[in-house]
Amino acid sequence: MPSDAAALGLRSQPVLTVDLGSIVANYRRLERRLGPARCAGVVKADAYGLGASQVAPALAAAGCRHFFVAHLEEGASLAKVLAPDAAIFVLHGPAPGEEDALRRVGCIPVLNDLGQIERWRRTAMAAGARLPAAVHFDTGLNRLGLSEAETHILLAEPDRLDGIDLRLVMSHLACADEPDHALNARQAAAFRTIAAAFPAARSSLANSSGIFLGAEYHCDLVRPGCALYGINPRPGQPNPMAQVARLASPILQVRHVDRAGTVGYGASHRVAAGARVAIVATGYADGWLRTLSNLGSALVKGIRVPIIGRVSMDLITLDVTAVPGARAGDAAELIGGELTADDVATTAGTIAYEVLARLGSRVQRRYLPAAPGSA
Ligand SMILES: *Cc1c(COP(=O)(O)O)cnc(C)c1O
Repeated sequence: MPSDAAALGLRSQPVLTVDLGSIVANYRRLERRLGPARCAGVVKADAYGLGASQVAPALAAAGCRHFFVAHLEEGASLAKVLAPDAAIFVLHGPAPGEEDALRRVGCIPVLNDLGQIERWRRTAMAAGARLPAAVHFDTGLNRLGLSEAETHILLAEPDRLDGIDLRLVMSHLACADEPDHALNARQAAAFRTIAAAFPAARSSLANSSGIFLGAEYHCDLVRPGCALYGINPRPGQPNPMAQVARLASPILQVRHVDRAGTVGYGASHRVAAGARVAIVATGYADGWLRTLSNLGSALVKGIRVPIIGRVSMDLITLDVTAVPGARAGDAAELIGGELTADDVATTAGTIAYEVLARLGSRVQRRYLPAAPGSA
C-alpha cells in the first residue's frame, strides 16, 4: 500500500478500506461448495462493521436474494438499499408491538417462540393477508428459537401457523467451527426431523463454518456471515477465504526519544534513548481493543512494529525504531497484509468477529467496487 497517507486521503482519521470484489469472490467461493442449496448473506451489525449499505447491494448484484439482520432497524435500513425481490429476515423477530412496523418496512420476521408466532398470526388475521415468516427452532444452542417443548406443541398444533406464510425453518449450530464436536451431528439430526414436518418451507442450518461441515448441513439455504468478510471459517486450518478489510491509520507524530523513559498511561513500557515512537490516530474509542496494549503490532512501510504502552482512547504508540524513514503523515496499517483480523483477534484474546464489529463510527469506510464482470 502507499505509505504516503495523503495519497490514501488520510488526515487524522483511521480508514477502513473494504474490498467489495473480495466479498463477492468469497460469496462465489462459498456458493461453489454448495449443491442445490442457495447462499444467503448475513449482514447484521452493519455487515460486521464493514457497512451493510455497501456490502448488501454488492451481494445482491452477485445474485444473493436472502439477507439476515438482527434488529428491525437494521432491516429497515437495508430495505432502502435493496430491490424489493430481496428477502430480509430479522433474526430477533418483532418485540411485542413491533409487528406492524416490521410489516411496513417489508422485512420477514424470524419467530423465536410461541408468543412471537401467536402475535404474528394475529397480525396476519388483522391484515387479512398471509404474512411471510421464518421460524427458528433451538436444537442445542439454548439461545433464540423454540425450545424442544415449544417445538412439540407447534408440531402437534400446526394451526398455530394459520395465516402465516412459512417461508423458512431454521436452526443455528453451537460448535460449527469444531468439526469433531458431537453436538454438530446431534443438532443436524434434530433439525432434519423438525424440517421434515414443514415440507413446504425452505430449511436453513449452516453458518459459515457449518458450510464446511459437509452437504448434510447445507439444507436449502446457508447463512454465512464471517466467511464473506474474510474471517477464517475453519480455525486452525489455512483460511480458504480472501481478505476483505484493511485498516490504516495516520501517524500524527514521530518522537525521537532523547532520554530513556516510559510510554503512555501507567508507564507500562520502557524505551531507551535513541528509540523512535510513532503516535497513531486510533484508540479504543475506535474499537481498537485495549487488550492489545503492549501486545499488538502494526505495519509501517511494510515492516511489522510493536504497539508499545497502553492503547488509549484516541491513540496508540508504536516503536518504529526499526523503520528509519517513518514520519508524520505515513500510514500505519493495523489490519492488512500479513496482519489479518484473525491474527489481531488471537493477540487480543478474542475472535475476529469482535475486532471487526467493534470498529467505531470515527473509522471512515472506503469501498473498492466489485468488478462489473463479477456480478
Ligand atoms: C450471526 C449468525 C449467522 C452467521 O454466522 P457466521 O459464523 O458469521 O457465519 C448465521 N445464523 C445466525 C442465526 C446468526 O446469528
